Amino acid sequence: DKFIFVTGGVMSGLGKGITAASLGRLLENAGFDVTAVKIDPYLNVDAGTMNPYQHGEVYVLKDGGEVDLDLGNYERFLDIDMTFDHNVTTGKVYQHVISRERSGDYLGKTVQIIPHITDDIKRRIREAAEGHDICLVEVGGTVGDIEGMPFLEALRQFVDEEPDEDVLLTHVTLVPYAPNGEQKTKPTQHSVKELRSIGLRPDIIVGRSDDPLEESVREKIALFGDVPTRAVFSNYDVDDVYKVPLLLEEEGMDEYVMDRLDLADRAIPRAHR
Ligand code: ADP
Repeated sequence: DKFIFVTGGVMSGLGKGITAASLGRLLENAGFDVTAVKIDPYLNVDAGTMNPYQHGEVYVLKDGGEVDLDLGNYERFLDIDMTFDHNVTTGKVYQHVISRERSGDYLGKTVQIIPHITDDIKRRIREAAEGHDICLVEVGGTVGDIEGMPFLEALRQFVDEEPDEDVLLTHVTLVPYAPNGEQKTKPTQHSVKELRSIGLRPDIIVGRSDDPLEESVREKIALFGDVPTRAVFSNYDVDDVYKVPLLLEEEGMDEYVMDRLDLADRAIPRAHR
């Protein structure tokens, strides 16, 4: 299995979900079986108890699972049916670990975030990926949030445990305009630094902006983010989110990802997609 993790920097609501789902669509077009996992670091066990005015509509899956509406994006973009197991929340993970502790499964050990919570997170991701070529894993929230820390630590361990060509980390960040009309990379630099401080290095950086990223801005993000310039992509505002796969394809994101994950040989040639 191949795993593509998607984290977000600077602020939420940037378009991590749309970016991940769009990339998934392109990989599907290239002939791969793609699935997705959405991680929500909140303590609710599922989205069913959350106020829709605060959190958006609850999305109900075929198996009755009440989940985050991002899973709807994945079902629509990827044309797949997902199950309740594809939404991992802090509440779900703790509920499981604590019930195992109560039944004595840990044989007297001190039950801790590392390794018990992080092990359970990794197990859920691997189980959801079983039988698929590629699993997208979107980490909700923003890098640096306290609630997201156990998930990012699990991700750090995951990167260590899997071969290099099986795991790819995509970081989606905001590239705002300064009052003088310049696209600014500072928020991106800070969020990459935040990732590095917890032992994670992005392979790809996606800048969300009003307009396409200027070439000099892409180069600067590459330099500070320690990625090649061709690994910096621009997800700019479009009038219809279903156009996002097309713009990422035009920038060659699918090709870059397939090269990096050693999948290019197995892909359907572009002319036949
Ligand atoms: P996140 O997962 O980071 O919280 P979402 O993927 O849910 O963000 O996107 C947040 C909002 O931004 C959604 O309403 C989505 O439709 C919109 N959006 C995402 N990408 C674009 C884009 N390129 N152009 C216009 N709107 C976008």
